[in-house]
Amino acid sequence: MTDKNKSIHEFDLQLIVDYFANVERQGPGSPEITIKALSFIENLNENSLIADIGSGSGGQTMVLAENTPGNIIGIDLFPTFIDLFNQNAKKLNLQNRVKGIVESMDNLSFQEEELDLIWSEGAIYNIGFERGLKEWRKFLKTGGYVAVTEVSWFTDERPAEIEEFWNEAYPGIDTIPNKVSQMQKAGYVPIATFILPENCWIENFHLPQVEVQKRFLEENAGNEAVEGFVANQRHEAELYRKYKDYYSYVFYIGRKITV
Ligand code: SAH
Repeated sequence: MTDKNKSIHEFDLQLIVDYFANVERQGPGSPEITIKALSFIENLNENSLIADIGSGSGGQTMVLAENTPGNIIGIDLFPTFIDLFNQNAKKLNLQNRVKGIVESMDNLSFQEEELDLIWSEGAIYNIGFERGLKEWRKFLKTGGYVAVTEVSWFTDERPAEIEEFWNEAYPGIDTIPNKVSQMQKAGYVPIATFILPENCWIENFHLPQVEVQKRFLEENAGNEAVEGFVANQRHEAELYRKYKDYYSYVFYIGRKITV
């Protein structure tokens, strides 16, 4: 297998963390879509507790914090991201109600029914959409909300190149109606879904990486792992441009009900 076709999972984790520590966001998104998703969520107040799972360095968490009352806990597996997260909270003077902690999303330390809202942009794939929705549900109060983004197909059939890429990178990818059905079966009322527009990928995710890629290649000339990783990121961005009519990240917002 050439590096170009490697899945991100096959690269050294520290390399990936160092690379993504240089950009504001570690996944597709934008302040506008975070605020749009938030518009579907009711009943938040100063006493609310929100978890942002797989927060990365907190690009979307800070937007969330500036547009909602209550306390927010950001969770990420990697201390590098959580250090940046807490620095970012401090810069915005949000440190009293926004805190980042290192923890794994498959072993969260919340109490049952403690949370009013679970947020997760571009990260639930690490545990899997269905598994994440099912396992995290117990931490939500009845009536609490979940809002996650997940890569999804727009159509039942896709060109072979992109189908193969995603089936290898994330076999959990599925169509929007199937994801909505999974959310409902996991014990949530599907409140809203909307597709992340192109600027969430190109302007806010791919373009900020271009400078980092150049610098990484200059500073690590001859390092095959770095060259392979950068080639992989560029390939993924090219595929998006070529096949953006067939997939995107999609916001899925649900409300926990008693079943
Ligand atoms: N929400 C951020 C980051 C998305 S990238 C944004 O939209 O910009 C996915 C994030 O999930 C990364 O920060 C990665 O470190 C984190 N992650 C991966 N596996 C994890 C796990 N098991 N538990 C918690 N976080 C994890």
